Amino acid sequence: MVNKQLVYGTQVIDYSLAYAERKTMRIRVDPEGDVSVVAPIGSTEEIIEERLLKKASWIRRQRDFFLSFQPRRSARKYVSGESHFYLGKRYRLRLVSVDAVENEFVKLIAGQLVIQTQDVENKEQIKSLLYDWYNDKAALHFSSLLDSQLVFIKPYYEGEIKLDWKQLEKHWGICRKNGRMTLNLELIKVPKHCIRYVIIHELCHLKYFNHSHKFWTLLTRILPNWKNTKEELEYFLDR
Ligand SMILES: [Zn+2]
Repeated sequence: MVNKQLVYGTQVIDYSLAYAERKTMRIRVDPEGDVSVVAPIGSTEEIIEERLLKKASWIRRQRDFFLSFQPRRSARKYVSGESHFYLGKRYRLRLVSVDAVENEFVKLIAGQLVIQTQDVENKEQIKSLLYDWYNDKAALHFSSLLDSQLVFIKPYYEGEIKLDWKQLEKHWGICRKNGRMTLNLELIKVPKHCIRYVIIHELCHLKYFNHSHKFWTLLTRILPNWKNTKEELEYFLDR
């Protein structure tokens, strides 16, 4: 059995692939949302991908159906093998125990999210190491994403914009009239174009401090495709 990825539009579907003596391909989505494929021996990769692409919207519906029974943000166990997201990509967690505190780190290594820590059983400690890592990554990406979008709002807002981020319960972002923008730290887990959507949405609030028709018109002028991106964002944070 091998782990594969199917690129479907702007999304990636992870699946496991095995071969068996059978006539047709079997695709299954289990209640955890994991996708498994069993293909007839001898099927080429092109054939498998083609069939999967035809079923991609079904796979997505199945997964949404199962995941709708789970809490909105599935509780993490912080164990090796568990999925964690960063900029829209899924990484498996790998916990490695080390002797000294100076050898502790969180790093992406060969497609895995590796956490070296003294006590791999200490979930609170792992959670906090991961939180710090996400926070550092937010510092790296959020500001530069905002900077790259300022040009769009310049004709409508002249003031200074100050950015920060933290865990927000109900919003992706908040923008105050004084130009202070707060982003939800959770956004570091979604693809960059989704973060960009939230930033542009918030920037448009500097011109229209509501969700009026004029607000949506401005947003659509800057980002014609925003509806798809918003849908994708919501789908992402459900996982
Ligand atoms: Zn809004």
